[in-house]
Amino acid sequence: MPETEDRVAQFRKMADDDPNNELGHFSLGRALLETGQHAEAAKSLQRVIALNPNIAKAYQLLGEAQLATGHRDYAIQTLTEGVQVAHRRGESMPKNAMSDKLRELGAPVPQLDQPKPPQEVGAGQVQCKRCGQVKPKLANPPFRNDFGQEIFENICADCWREAIGMGTKVINELRLPMNDPQAHKVWDQHIREFLHL
Ligand SMILES: [Zn+2]
Repeated sequence: MPETEDRVAQFRKMADDDPNNELGHFSLGRALLETGQHAEAAKSLQRVIALNPNIAKAYQLLGEAQLATGHRDYAIQTLTEGVQVAHRRGESMPKNAMSDKLRELGAPVPQLDQPKPPQEVGAGQVQCKRCGQVKPKLANPPFRNDFGQEIFENICADCWREAIGMGTKVINELRLPMNDPQAHKVWDQHIREFLHL
């Protein structure tokens, strides 16, 4: 799959050029996992968690990589932490996937409190899907399409500013020609991952 190999190379460059770019490592880890390079995938995903311990999906993928390399005990530890992170952030999809995996492995699934009642979201505020906090939202959707509306309804203004910074880096590092619709798709995908949308 030359396309996937290209992506691995692109993400590797992104992660090398900017070692603190959690998204670069995340994308690299996922692409490596898809191409069966499990040991290296595990390293990238560990780096993601070191940079940002709140990305539930990173634990899920790291657990997969650790299982594939025969590290069952580490995988159980990773998935157990991952379930807790996902629970705290209210992300039920990765939480259920990791709980199922633990059951499949015959490991205990952490017993967690009922999720806290949702915080009061006032006018001009949003419960942000990236940072998990209730914070001021954008004044208007950033784009006049569904994606713009989705960002407006789910992401706080601070996280959006960060995403713009990240998007600019992606464009520069992957040298995306922004007049190319294919490049727009790559950019959208990075922004979505960054925002946990
Ligand atoms: Zn936020």
